[in-house]
Amino acid sequence: MLSEYYFDNAATTIISESALRTYNETCLEYMGNPSANHREGQKAHRRLEECREAFASRLGVKSSQIFFTSGATESISIVLSSLLWAKSPGHIIMSQIEHEAVLSWIGLLKEKGWKITTLRAKGGFVDPAELEESITEATRLVAVMMVNNVTGSIQDIGSMVKIVRKKESEFGRKIFFFSDCVQALGKLPFSLRELDVDGASFSSHKIAGPRGIGALYLKRGDIQSLARAGGQEKGVRGGTENLPAIASFTRALLDCPETSSDVEMIYEHTRRKFEENGIKVLSPDHDRSPYVLSITTELPSEVLTRMLIDEGWCVSSGSACSNNAKGKGEGVLQAMGFSARDSKGAIRISFFHYSRLDRALELADAIIRKVREF
Ligand code: PLP
Repeated sequence: MLSEYYFDNAATTIISESALRTYNETCLEYMGNPSANHREGQKAHRRLEECREAFASRLGVKSSQIFFTSGATESISIVLSSLLWAKSPGHIIMSQIEHEAVLSWIGLLKEKGWKITTLRAKGGFVDPAELEESITEATRLVAVMMVNNVTGSIQDIGSMVKIVRKKESEFGRKIFFFSDCVQALGKLPFSLRELDVDGASFSSHKIAGPRGIGALYLKRGDIQSLARAGGQEKGVRGGTENLPAIASFTRALLDCPETSSDVEMIYEHTRRKFEENGIKVLSPDHDRSPYVLSITTELPSEVLTRMLIDEGWCVSSGSACSNNAKGKGEGVLQAMGFSARDSKGAIRISFFHYSRLDRALELADAIIRKVREF
């Protein structure tokens, strides 16, 4: 089966049978538009709200705080584009290791007069003290992701939000704390309520749900959205709701185990194998997700990934959530303090619940062999 050789799960996962079944069943059973007044519309509307309730309850938040979108990229865009309404632009802080879906906003926001401070992340971690020093009276938004998609480092969001709240009361002005939680959802236990973030983004296809569906958490649903359209999702994200995909995404989330001891075991064994064979691991050895293992070798990553792909393995170089963002993962690794050489040789191996230890070790063997031959 292909999935045995598939180790690019941080880019996308293979849809699960139960998520696919839910998708198909919802397509066939709920044909109405959830906004329509007739019986079929009302039935679809009830199903939509049931999904929202189940989704929110798994995250321990209120259903009124969850908005379905077309993916994390759109969830992020809704939050960052809302800044464009501001009459007088202020200051934003974001980490340099954010996904392109966040970093790509820098140009436009600067053009519109926003000042942007970007924070490095030595060893993979944003330093809360550096964040504290960067906050000014003009700061309106802070964006720091929960789990980095290149190395799997887990950020200390709790401490950073506390700092932001302290500054808010000092300056008497609201600062929106946004966290892109794509690589954390269904993989790491966290409480949005306890962390006290104002907004968070999620994506279905990273947890064996379908592509093109995501969610946005908003502590207070009063964001000024540019995507109001027909007023669906309470005007946060207009457009007919993709009910089959929403139901399927919800199914995929509910199917994720609370803890992932199997993935942890696969990660540990694979990591150890690399270390014992002199392969440098870029992922940190603490505060890290067991779903993302980044290594580097002396072979340029395009060369090594090509050789592995030719043998049927699926891994990616650098970040490679998309090949359109060529070299972007390298930028993230350099922001973490890795050398240009380490960044150029980076390979990302990413796991999901269906990953198998024997295949992961076989992949590690294949990499070790190729590096020795080189
Ligand atoms: N944020 C992170 C950390 C990601 O890994 C991805 C995946 O590509 C995204 C955002 C974008 O998610 P989506 O594909 O749902 O737009």
